[in-house]
Amino acid sequence: MKYFEYMGKSLFKEYGIPVPDGAVAETPDEAAEITKKLGSAVIKSQVLTGGRGKAGGVKFADSPEEAGKAAEELLGQEIKGYKVERVLVEEKLNIEKELYLAITIDSTKKSPVLIASTKGGMDIEEVPEEYIVKKNIDVLTGMEPFVIREIVSELGFDFKAETSKQFMKIVSKLYQAFRALDAELMEINPLVIADGQVIAADAKVTIDDCARYRQKDLPYVEEKTVIEKKAAELGLAYVELEGDIAVMANGAGMSMATLDILQYYGGKPANFLDAGGGAGSETMARAIELLLEKKPRVIFINIFGGITRCDDVANAITQVLGQQKIEIPVVIRLVGTNEEEGRRILEAQSLSAYNLMHEAAQKAVELARK
Ligand code: GDP
Ligand code: MN
Repeated sequence: MKYFEYMGKSLFKEYGIPVPDGAVAETPDEAAEITKKLGSAVIKSQVLTGGRGKAGGVKFADSPEEAGKAAEELLGQEIKGYKVERVLVEEKLNIEKELYLAITIDSTKKSPVLIASTKGGMDIEEVPEEYIVKKNIDVLTGMEPFVIREIVSELGFDFKAETSKQFMKIVSKLYQAFRALDAELMEINPLVIADGQVIAADAKVTIDDCARYRQKDLPYVEEKTVIEKKAAELGLAYVELEGDIAVMANGAGMSMATLDILQYYGGKPANFLDAGGGAGSETMARAIELLLEKKPRVIFINIFGGITRCDDVANAITQVLGQQKIEIPVVIRLVGTNEEEGRRILEAQSLSAYNLMHEAAQKAVELARK
């Protein structure tokens, strides 16, 4: 489960990792009030996605009035599909240097891995390898002081003695928190040096869902995007992704295979909807509407009819396409129970369906590129 930045920071605080002064606001007035005590402030959208800075989700204010205005602009806005319901109002730091520090699980080495870099503030995926220090941590011995010293020396950053001491303490505390809270990820990007102090300016915390039974004190957070919430209300299994091909398939295995094959041919799924077994035409119609909300370039429907009959699926598709004007290409692959009948229904509406999944996937990718 992912936590909002403000929650991550409050966990950091509990474990002795310094975070900026601040508080959460749900209204512009609250944001202004908090700013009175801070002087100048940073107003940060609380959404479960990174890259808020680039997406315009982080604003600065030099007075309570400006803070109120910034909060008004941010609250209610959607950032990468997530609605902003709260902002974090914090003291504005005088950033001298942005570092990167994270601990996550290395699934190949089956151990926690610490990742640090002197190039903080940007996506770690974009940082050149030579600026990244990685250390696998043995859970039996823990984060040993010599490992922390190695990290500092390999970073090759000219830390002042006092800053280095603070940095090392944060590494050690972060590991303590990571283990104690059964985290999958604890990322501080950027970890900043401001007025000689090392402070976590951001917090990304993901707790292992399998550990919930022993992390009962941790709060529960709803992770859904705006469209995912609608889907849940309709009882549809819908997941949002970041590409441009909308996917409907039936069954979890089939949905995963469909995403994989699109990726294999260079396509990027925008979302996927598991139509499940025996989805009626009404449900299918709703499903297609949801897929379209993400404004994809292509819809790819991949159905292997078992309990679901191909003629039912074909009827649902023709019904939806008859009712609403869909301006993007729809690629259909339909095989299984009552396949022949299903094809006849589609052909009667001058639609056609592929037999082979890879051919259909290639077509969908090709159309998305156009
Ligand atoms: P993200 O884009 O979602 O990862 O959000 P961040 O919390 O990392 O904020 C994005 C960027 O805003 C940071 O990399 C900083 O450059 C900047 N930023 C955040 N807090 C402060 C602050 O207190 N002072 C200053 N000057 N910049 C800040
Ligand atoms: Mn960040």
